[in-house]
Amino acid sequence: MTTSLERSDEVVRDGGLATWAPSITPPIGVDLAGRQELACSFRLLAATGFSENIAGHITWAPSDDGSMWVNPWGLWWDEVKASDLCRVDADGHVIEGVWDVTPAIHIHTELHRRRPDARVVVHNHPYHVSVLAAAGVLPEIVHQTGSMFDGDLKFVHEYSGEVDSAELAIALAEQIGDSSTVILASHGVIVTGPTIREATYRAASIDRVCRLAYDLLVMGREPLPIAAGIRVGMKKSLLERGTDVFWAGAVRKLLRTDPDVLL
Ligand SMILES: [Zn+2]
Repeated sequence: MTTSLERSDEVVRDGGLATWAPSITPPIGVDLAGRQELACSFRLLAATGFSENIAGHITWAPSDDGSMWVNPWGLWWDEVKASDLCRVDADGHVIEGVWDVTPAIHIHTELHRRRPDARVVVHNHPYHVSVLAAAGVLPEIVHQTGSMFDGDLKFVHEYSGEVDSAELAIALAEQIGDSSTVILASHGVIVTGPTIREATYRAASIDRVCRLAYDLLVMGREPLPIAAGIRVGMKKSLLERGTDVFWAGAVRKLLRTDPDVLL
């Protein structure tokens, strides 16, 4: 007998733009340069609790010359402006900008070097990710939004303190491999993406995914299963259709309160 709480593993849903594409979507209302998009990403993620005061970095490598834009050492994410961003070369040396950058930049330089698909690399220590990172577990996908990470999550167990040299970062990049979202033991998370908007959407979602999984663990309840065939279609819908409207809405909201982010 099948109860209402049981679900079939045989269900398959396609999802994504092939299933439905909007004829029009509400725009941001202003054209943003790449550095302005990156500055918006810092503020948006800070507003969701993704950043831990002075910690964390986002890099954006817009071209194939090996250089990348990054936040400077010493500014909190919620105060970054477009003009504060620094450009570093492939080895992490500052080549543009008025500030210095952290030696942990190597986490990013070595991942960009290994992963040309990852134009954007986001790293910080959001609270609920950090709880699971301390427990040594990946979040179970217990809600449809978690389908965004279906097949992409990886846990890296090695922890050797601050990653402040290219040598340590090369070893980390090798462990990360092709994963788009990696939880680092006793530390935090690394999220990658092909664009600022997609990496920001993933990063803005991962802490909530971890919080839901954590709360289910605390409840002591087994989550209802979400069939693999449903997760696949939901992932396409979230990333193919959701990314642009997430970004536009988040930036519209940000610019109402933080117009200085574009300066
Ligand atoms: Zn860190």
